[in-house]
Amino acid sequence: MSQNLPFQREANFIGGEWVGADSGKTFDVTNPATGKTIGVVPDSGVDETRRAIAEAEAAFGDWGRKTAAVRACILRKLAEAIEANQEDLARLLTTEQGKAITEARGEVGASAAYVRWFSEEARRVYGDVIPSPWPERRIMVIRQPVGVVAAITPWNFPTLMLSRKIGAALAAGCTVVAKPASQTPYSAIAWGILAEEAGVPPGVLNIVTGAARAIGGEMTANPAVRKITFTGSTAVGKKLTADAAATMKRVSMELGGNAPFLVFDDADLDAAVDGAMQSKYRNAGQTCVCANRFLVQSGVYDAFVEKLAAATRQLKVGNGLEDGVALGPLIDDAAVKKVQEHVDDALSKGGRLVAGGGRHELGGTFYTPTVIADVTSQMAVAREETFGPLAPVFKFEEEAEAIRMANNTEFGLAAYAYTRDLGRTMRVMEGLQYGQVGINAGVITTEVAPFGGVKDSGMGREGSKYGLDDYLDIKYACLGI
Ligand code: ADP
Repeated sequence: MSQNLPFQREANFIGGEWVGADSGKTFDVTNPATGKTIGVVPDSGVDETRRAIAEAEAAFGDWGRKTAAVRACILRKLAEAIEANQEDLARLLTTEQGKAITEARGEVGASAAYVRWFSEEARRVYGDVIPSPWPERRIMVIRQPVGVVAAITPWNFPTLMLSRKIGAALAAGCTVVAKPASQTPYSAIAWGILAEEAGVPPGVLNIVTGAARAIGGEMTANPAVRKITFTGSTAVGKKLTADAAATMKRVSMELGGNAPFLVFDDADLDAAVDGAMQSKYRNAGQTCVCANRFLVQSGVYDAFVEKLAAATRQLKVGNGLEDGVALGPLIDDAAVKKVQEHVDDALSKGGRLVAGGGRHELGGTFYTPTVIADVTSQMAVAREETFGPLAPVFKFEEEAEAIRMANNTEFGLAAYAYTRDLGRTMRVMEGLQYGQVGINAGVITTEVAPFGGVKDSGMGREGSKYGLDDYLDIKYACLGI
C-alpha cells in the first residue's frame, strides 16, 4: 500500500542509487496544514554523507571534462522535466511546506527558469588572454570548476534554493551533494528523480536527508568538498563558514535579512500598498527578502496604515491546496511562537494593533496576518527577522533619517522604497546598505539578476551572469614559447 504523492520518494540518492540510511532509521515528514505525517525519509549521518561525497568526487572528473554544450543540453532537459511536472511538484511542495498552491507553482516555474538560465550560461565560461610584459611568454587565464560542492538548503523555498545551487554547480562542471531541510525533504529528493530523467550521470547529483549537524559536519570537514553553498539562518551560516575555514573551502552564504520597506510622501500610495502586500505576505512572511520593517513618512503614514490594514484583513488563510487561499500555515509551532513574541513585545511597548494579532481560528500553525502601527526602535521587530505575517509600521520625517533607520541593522539582504522623485530614487538606492534594492517594486527576484546580501546577510551571488563565479576557480597560465 502506498499513498505517496507523485515524486514523493523515501530514499537518499547516492551515486545514482536510491538507498536508505545505513541504520535503517527514518524520520517523519509532516504536512503543516493538517499536522499529519505524510511519510518518512532516511535519517542519515556522517557515513552516508561521506559516501555521497566520494561518489561526487569520483564523478567530478568526467562531468567537469564534458563540453559545455553537453552539460548545457542535460541542464536544458532538467529544466524541461521540471516544467513538465510543475503541477505534481507544486502539490508535493505545498503538502510538505504549506504555501499557497499558486505560490508553489510559481516556485517550481522559477526553479525551471534558473536551471534554464544556467544551461545557457554554461556555454559562456570565458577566459582571458592578457597582453604579456615578456616577449617570449604568453599569459592565459582559464576558469575551471571548483570541484565537489556541498549544498545545504532551507524549508521556505525547498525547490528554488536548490535550483540556484544545482543549476550553477552543474553548469560550471562541479558535482553536488545536497542536504535539504528536514521539514521539506521531498521537494529536494524529487531533484534526484528529475536528474535521472534528464540524463545527469550517476554521482553528479547526490541527495542526503537526515541529521543536520552530522551531515553538515562531514560536509565542512571532508577535504574533498571544495565549496559549501548554504541558504539559511545567519547563526548556522557563520558556523559553517568557520568550520569550512579549516580546509579553506570556498563559501556562498545566503543568510537572514531584516528588509526595510520605505514609503515616502511622494509615493504612489496604492502601488506602495500592493508592493507591501506582495513583499510581506508571500509564503506567509517566511522569506528572507520579506519586508520586515515598514518605514513610512509622516505625511502618508495614517493613510498607508489604513490601506495596508484593510488589504491585510482581506487575505484568506487556509490550507494552501485550497482555491483562493493566500496564506498557508507557518512551518511549525516555533515559527508561530516567534511571531507572537514579536507581536506581544510591540504591543507591550506602545504598538497599536490595527489588524490580526494572534493565532488563526483554524488552529494548528495558522496565524492571522497582523499589522501594528506606532512601532519604535525599542521593539524586537526593529532588530530581528520575524519570518512570519507581521507588518510593523514605523514613522519617519526626513529622507536621511529613513536611510539611517533602514541601515541600522546587522543585516543587508534586500530593501524596498516607494518614491516618484528621481533624485531621491538615486540617493536612496545608493545609500541603502543592501545587496538588492527594489524601487517601486515589492518582489524583485529573477534568475537574470544577482541575488545575495552584504553584512550578516552573507556573501556570494546566485543567479545572473555572476552566479557561476562562485563555482569557478581562476587559473593563470604563463606560457614560455
Ligand atoms: P531555518 O531557520 O530556515 O530553519 P537553519 O539555518 O536552521 O534555518 O536551517 C537551514 C538549513 O541548515 C537546514 O537544511 C537545516 O537542517 C540546516 N542546518 C541547521 N543546523 C545545521 C548545522 N549545525 N550544520 C549544518 N546544517 C544545519
